[in-house]
Parts: sequence; structure tokens; C-alpha cells
Amino acid sequence: MTWMKLGEVEIGRIIESNGPFMSVYDFFPDATPELLAPHRHWLDQGALDPRTDELIMPIQSYVVRTPRHVVLVDSCVGNHKSVKWYPAWDQMNGTSYLAGLATLGLRPEDIDVVLCSHLHVDHSGWNTRWQDGRWHPTFPNARYILSKKEVEGAEYLHTKYGDPTYAENVLPVIEAGQAVLVADDHQVDDHVWLEPTPGHTRGHCAIRVDGRGGDAVITGDLIHSPVQCQFPHWNFRHDFDKAQAAATRRGFLERYCECATQVLTAHFPLPSAGHLRRAGDAFRFEYWPAGAFI
Ligand SMILES: [Zn+2]
Repeated sequence: MTWMKLGEVEIGRIIESNGPFMSVYDFFPDATPELLAPHRHWLDQGALDPRTDELIMPIQSYVVRTPRHVVLVDSCVGNHKSVKWYPAWDQMNGTSYLAGLATLGLRPEDIDVVLCSHLHVDHSGWNTRWQDGRWHPTFPNARYILSKKEVEGAEYLHTKYGDPTYAENVLPVIEAGQAVLVADDHQVDDHVWLEPTPGHTRGHCAIRVDGRGGDAVITGDLIHSPVQCQFPHWNFRHDFDKAQAAATRRGFLERYCECATQVLTAHFPLPSAGHLRRAGDAFRFEYWPAGAFI
């Protein structure tokens, strides 16, 4: 695992898991075999399993080391979490996550700030871990900087539908006094800030990084797959506000295409990072070379 240098900032990553996730037709209700056919030659190179038409998706965190802070962005699924809708994530007990952190030369104590693009289970799981019969913040010295809107949304899903994410990944951090609830354009330090990108969830944020000598944007789930570069209006089945999600995605693609900004996605196939290029009325993703930054 290596660090990518962007001027005064370094970015590393932790991969919790990687593999086929869900049928592309279940994930994107607008997808059809006919629409995919002209793009199979590149989709089958890592984005789709050609035998099953499942999307191949890593689950990963990025770590941004600025001159002042070590910032963990999105904390994957975590261990011992209740994820009844996706059995592979339910009650996981893996070692890859903390091992990945160690490979970057970091201990949980070294994380100064935790950011979550949103509070779905695969972006907030390692916020906490189960020890001595209760949930504890995994990162004992961190401020967990969370969108106020996202926290309200997670609490609502918990109260209304019994979704366990709030109780397992958010409330223990608040009770420990480590949560800071912020607006969606919050500035963490001179090099890192939130950029509002609502739609997938109400308070979804991208994370902007300016290293003064290179810059990056971490997308979270405003876009899930490179197939949405070709079809920006395709929404994930469970995007919270589908019209807003599509508008946010199109605006994001326009804003960051044909520029030097490194685009660091959550779930595009590894290496998940690269640049956006224009392709007619749509876009394409130009990956970093194989083997880079993994
Ligand atoms: Zn996700």
C-alpha cells in the first residue's frame, strides 16, 4: 500500500473487500442488456463480471494526511454490524481493515478526523467497534465530523424503520463526545473541506482535497460505477432523491471533466482513481495505470 503525493498532502487507502456486489440490472433499474452491449468491451475489463452481470465493487477508505491532520474518509462496513439486507456484510469479522491501516503505518490512535461522505453502512461501519459488550469509537483520538443532515437522516431511519446504522455507527460516537455536527460545506483545515452533493442521501458530501501542488475529490456514492459516466442519468435503485441525485451527478461530471483534479471514487473497480474525460454527450473514466496506488 503506497501513498500518493499531492503537493503538501498525501493520500492512502484501505481496501476492506473487493468483488462482485449485485446484478447491474438490480442496482440500476434503467440498465438493459441492449444498452450495455456497445460498452461491454470496457465494462467487462473489471467493472462487470461477464458471467453474471454483477457489478464488481471495492469497499474502501481513503486516508488524507495534511500538514495538520490525518483524516480518514469513509469507514467501510466494519465488524459485527447488523446488515440484514446484504448477508455478506452481516456480522462480518474480518482482519483486512485494521491490517490495511497498519500497512499505511497508522494505528487507530493516529486518526485525527473521521469524515463520512454519508452514513450508509458501507461508509460508516468502522466508526465504531464492539468491545466489552458495547460499541466504542474505533478511533479514540478522532473528531468525527458529520453532516448534521446526514445524522438527522440516519436517526430518522432508525426511529421510523429500525435501521441499525444510527445505533451502531453514529450514536456511540455522539455519546462519547467525539462527534461534531457540521454544515455540508464545512472546512476541516486549509487542505480539506466538504462539498455538498445531495441526492444519494439528503446530506451527501464529496470531500475536496487541495495539496497546493495537486488536488483531488473523493466522490463517496454520488456515482457508483463507471457505467454512469456513459449514462449519468442512471440512478442507484435506492438513491434518496432520484432527480436530485441525477442532477448532482451530471453537475459533478461536468465540473471535474477535462481537468487535473484526481477523482477518487468509492466503488469503481480498482484502482478506482483517475480523471474524467468528455465522450460526446457523456463522459468516460481514464483510470490510473494498473498497479498504481493500490
Ligand atoms: Zn457505498
